[in-house]
Amino acid sequence: MKKHNFYAGPSILPQYTIDNTAKAIHEFADMGLSLMEISHRSKQFIAVVEEAQTLFRELLNIPEDYSVLFLGGGASLQFAMIPFNLFNKKAAYLNTGVWSKKAIKEAKMFGEVNVVASSEDKNFSYIPRDYKIPTDVDYFHITTNNTIYGTEILEDLDSPVPLIADMSSDIFSRPIDVKKYAVIYGGAQKNLAPAGVTFVIIKNDILGKVERQIPSMLNYKTHIDKESMFNTPPVVPIFAALQTLKWLKEKGGLAVMEKLNIEKAEILYKEIDRNKMFKSNVPNPKDRSRMNVCFVMNDGFEDKEKAFIDFATAKGMIGIKGHRDAGGFRASIYNAMPIESVKAFIEVMQEFEKQA
Ligand SMILES: *Cc1c(COP(=O)(O)O)cnc(C)c1O
Repeated sequence: MKKHNFYAGPSILPQYTIDNTAKAIHEFADMGLSLMEISHRSKQFIAVVEEAQTLFRELLNIPEDYSVLFLGGGASLQFAMIPFNLFNKKAAYLNTGVWSKKAIKEAKMFGEVNVVASSEDKNFSYIPRDYKIPTDVDYFHITTNNTIYGTEILEDLDSPVPLIADMSSDIFSRPIDVKKYAVIYGGAQKNLAPAGVTFVIIKNDILGKVERQIPSMLNYKTHIDKESMFNTPPVVPIFAALQTLKWLKEKGGLAVMEKLNIEKAEILYKEIDRNKMFKSNVPNPKDRSRMNVCFVMNDGFEDKEKAFIDFATAKGMIGIKGHRDAGGFRASIYNAMPIESVKAFIEVMQEFEKQA
């Protein structure tokens, strides 16, 4: 039976990425060696890093005065690296979920954190809009897609202070105006590559403004100066990321991706709103994530949750259980997920409604 992969992360990747990475693990760049056993300083691998950076720039239209880094440590290490490098006196954060809270917790070790707004009062089921970004802070930090709760900031905000965004789970899902951000970062394992590599897009001139000593590995400048080769980078995930970037370009780029993502999300939310058994976790359609579609059993059907998971899983729908903090279900429909899989899932929802 065909399996449809709705896991939230690590998650579905293009078959192109998997096939080419598998080949390179057997033999990389006609070297007669595996990608796993070559020097990261070989000219063949340096070409991989350079091409990945070039495609990042091309697909996202990244201006010249930004650097593109491939680091280890996950998005979670960025929660600490951001304040280490950029926090002087005060920073502002928007609290839209678990990942925001984790970023806030790390920042608090460096000084005063102004949480300008939070949607925690309603279990993070919406994006706060009624707030003003303070001007007396070093930066303003947001999480654009809240992987666990299924909300997303779908526009590039105007900020009077450097804007920093965790885009772990929606990078490359739509064109973004990089100029509006000072830093964009994320773990690769949601929409780009297997776990192990973290991308950081950083405006060079925001660095050098803090007095503290920064350990070399935590200092962005180290990695900018050494072009992500200060220490051994995650070779296999970077190679896989390059394949996904090539696939994205081949597909027509991010405007095309966005159109497909809108279409996939629209048909799935439409079914959730229509189907009497289910309801969305996110009432305002403007706040609904195009990447992680979260929903629960509708009122009166609460006892059917396990039955639906079992029903859907038996039909090849994998990874639809919601995160423990949100409950219910989560269908992650990242870039690599074809619309056919979304349609197959909708059919399963309709069959479940009929037999209930
Ligand atoms: C998954 C995720 C993280 C955590 O990423 P790691 O690479 O595991 O540290 C952070 N932020 C968001 C929005 C995520 O989806």
